[in-house]
Amino acid sequence: MRAYIGLGSNLADPVQQVARALDELASIPQSQLVARSRLYRSAPLGPPDQPDYINAVAVIDTALAAKKLLHQLQQLESMHGRVRDGERWGPRTLDLDLLLYGDEISSDDELTLPHPGAHERIFVLAPLWAIAPAAVIPGKGRVVDLLEACQSQHIEVVDSSAPAR
Ligand code: ADP
Ligand code: MG
Repeated sequence: MRAYIGLGSNLADPVQQVARALDELASIPQSQLVARSRLYRSAPLGPPDQPDYINAVAVIDTALAAKKLLHQLQQLESMHGRVRDGERWGPRTLDLDLLLYGDEISSDDELTLPHPGAHERIFVLAPLWAIAPAAVIPGKGRVVDLLEACQSQHIEVVDSSAPAR
């Protein structure tokens, strides 16, 4: 099954957090990393008094069931020291979202597919479009059209040649 993973971080050297996580995704069992986007920088959603986010999207081919894959992602989050303190959309060292799992549409207590925010967030759509220009979000539409609709949100590519701040 082809799955798309959204990565985000805004704490503890976010560029490194996301870069490392992209490497770690390659070691998920029964799975292969197919593609990874460049890193992007975006303003925080939710509480405004927190640092900018670094985001990326990865594509993997996996033999794991969607929930098993989610659990692997949650393990990686814990390894990055993410503590769930209950504040929704608060700052985090690493957030890994299962954006798409094939063309599955489903929802229960633990997992909603596609990820409920994916179709309206530029920090998902811009990197997703860059590595999968023909992608479709089931039930929502073509990524290229969805991206067009959120051009008012600001995002920039992280210049990897610039010195780290
Ligand atoms: P958010 O990513 O919305 O900022 P969290 O990362 O804290 O929030 O996730 C909260 C919960 O979202 C997790 O406990 C997880 O079970 C649930 N969840 C539901 N659907 C998904 C999905 N597609 N990808 C990742 N987590 C999901
Ligand atoms: Mg999450």
